[in-house]
Amino acid sequence: MPSEWSDDALRDAVASWGPAWGEDLAARTYSARLIGADPALVLHGGGNTSVKSEVKDLLGRPLPVLFVKGSGWDLATIEPPGHPGVVLDYLRSLRQLAELSDEQMVGAIRSHMLDPTGPQPSIETLLHAWLPHKFVDHSHADAIVALTNTSAGERPIREALGERVAIVPYVKPGFSLAVLAAAVFERDPEVEALVLVHHGLFTFGDNAEQSYKQHIKLVRAATDYLERRTASSARRAGSGAKKRPDAAEARRRASRVAPLLRGALAERDADGVSRRHVLAWRGGERVLERLASEQLREWAATGTLTPEHVIRTKAHPLLVEPPVEDEDRAWRESIRLPLEAFRQAYARYFEENAQAAGGASRYIRLDDTPRVVLVPGVGLFGVGSSPEDAATAADIAEHTLEGKRWVQALGGWRALSAAQLFEIEYWSLEQAKLRKREEGRLARRVALVTGAAGAIGRGIARELLSAGACVVLVDVEQAALAAARAQLGKPARTLAVRADVTDPAGIERAFEEASLAFGGVDVVVPNAGIARTGPLAEMALAEFRRVVEVNLTGVFITLQQAARHLVRQGSGGGVVVVSSKNVLAPGEEFGAYSASKAGAHQLGRVAALELAREGVRVNMVLPDAVFGDGELASGLWQTIGPERARARGLEPQQLAEYHRQRNLLHARITAAHVGRAVVFFAAEETPTTGAVLPIDGGLPAAFPR
Ligand code: ZN
Repeated sequence: MPSEWSDDALRDAVASWGPAWGEDLAARTYSARLIGADPALVLHGGGNTSVKSEVKDLLGRPLPVLFVKGSGWDLATIEPPGHPGVVLDYLRSLRQLAELSDEQMVGAIRSHMLDPTGPQPSIETLLHAWLPHKFVDHSHADAIVALTNTSAGERPIREALGERVAIVPYVKPGFSLAVLAAAVFERDPEVEALVLVHHGLFTFGDNAEQSYKQHIKLVRAATDYLERRTASSARRAGSGAKKRPDAAEARRRASRVAPLLRGALAERDADGVSRRHVLAWRGGERVLERLASEQLREWAATGTLTPEHVIRTKAHPLLVEPPVEDEDRAWRESIRLPLEAFRQAYARYFEENAQAAGGASRYIRLDDTPRVVLVPGVGLFGVGSSPEDAATAADIAEHTLEGKRWVQALGGWRALSAAQLFEIEYWSLEQAKLRKREEGRLARRVALVTGAAGAIGRGIARELLSAGACVVLVDVEQAALAAARAQLGKPARTLAVRADVTDPAGIERAFEEASLAFGGVDVVVPNAGIARTGPLAEMALAEFRRVVEVNLTGVFITLQQAARHLVRQGSGGGVVVVSSKNVLAPGEEFGAYSASKAGAHQLGRVAALELAREGVRVNMVLPDAVFGDGELASGLWQTIGPERARARGLEPQQLAEYHRQRNLLHARITAAHVGRAVVFFAAEETPTTGAVLPIDGGLPAAFPR
């Protein structure tokens, strides 16, 4: 772990931020970013930084202030407003109190912020305030935490870091920890750092460089020590020619196992599936190697690297041993048994610890779904309510495996007690966040849309995304697909897969890619379509066949793959076929399109019959002409527009107005309208399948009968 410090970069930071924010905050922002940029130091919010400075109050009087990291900011990309200012003398005065609850502490800090609308200062604000140094850096560095999680107590900490650091026993972050840490520091104000057991490292200095370099020096010393010990214990154990993990095979298996796992993890109530989760798979060589360790069972049974991880990963991962027979039924059993045990153990953990901590009724019980699943030979899965949460859990799991490997060499893990983990998992401040939390109608669902790069496809994808779904964009046009994904934004919640709906292997691969990215698919929208115009007497057979191939056979292939996927996953779901107003009211010189869409529509009805027993709904939306999506013109209408206009005796530019005028509501039909109809069915808010929803502004000739 090298120091990334650069005097030039500091000078640049001070030159750019200094004039508006002051030199202290500029330097603070610079070195906070250095610390935040290294995931071995700071992983998903596990760290915070501060600087003590002085500002002028409104009356021009000097006011000492603590600028301390605010919640919601990532240290790697933090800006000066990410360290909100709090009146320092007030923070210091709180030291006189005998106790202060978390809620009182949060309120007290908030009441003395320079900008009351700023982000909430760190839970460790008082600890920062009560150390005398100008700059304070705090991280939950993997190596430091690992050193303090061993059964060997202080010895490895001393061996690695020497006598110049003070060791602070474990206390949950908040007022009590600040009191204890300040007292430990004051016993020997010459110490160079505080090592917080099971938690992390505090370094400090008169300037940003001193505190940062001290931080890096100690983390490097810890890492070197752990690596040395790990290497020598591996030598003692005999290296043995280990088989290199097969990453390609792991990927293949993961794409098949993910939907089975995701289906099993879905939470159910009397009405069926009540909550799904998104998965994030990790199967790099290092992960596979760690999962192949003989100690894996032992590692899985011990707690988290730092207590705060329990909020993201729960106390333990679920360990799934691959079955001997690599087939669905065997995999389902391999998942089911440990999962049942996990849920039972979670129920016991909650009841016992809630009882001991004031009674179960005081707490909102969290779900009992694991957040990390370890599958040797396949990889690890992060589990969450969103791809971001799932990725966070997976990242933490990767770092935890490394930490456990290190600790193994030091004689084993000393975990926090269940009561200590419960205290964090059911922390009142976290419980308060739960009460405020709102999710989109389609949160936790994954949708796959074919023809997603076209005008209607993009509109559907956009509405699905804004309802909270993850969206797999499938299209045959590579460039248009990339453009669609870029235009939709939210890259963490989209995946683009180039595939042709007339190629079963391509569509199957799209479902596999979706399974690796998100764990599976819940909503499938067969939307890809093309059109050709011409009277029956003149239409070329090849043209007719081409339209049928995409619009009918393409929907058959998509439905078939969807059915197989949804049935294997076993947690219901839905299909929304983009049919057409032409199915109910066909147009002249539009035979190929109308007939192929009618065929696809009928397939959708058959799918509704066949898949109901699996809890899968199949519905049809019937748009009339959609001429584009914002700036993007419909490719279909660009192809057929001139012909269709001629057939009606119009100029091409008059066509959209013609369609608007002919419906009862005089509505111009947009891609967003189609998207909202898809969202309605996808949200499963009514018990509806085999239904037809026109999106045409009201066309009596096309009223469903
Ligand atoms: Zn901390």
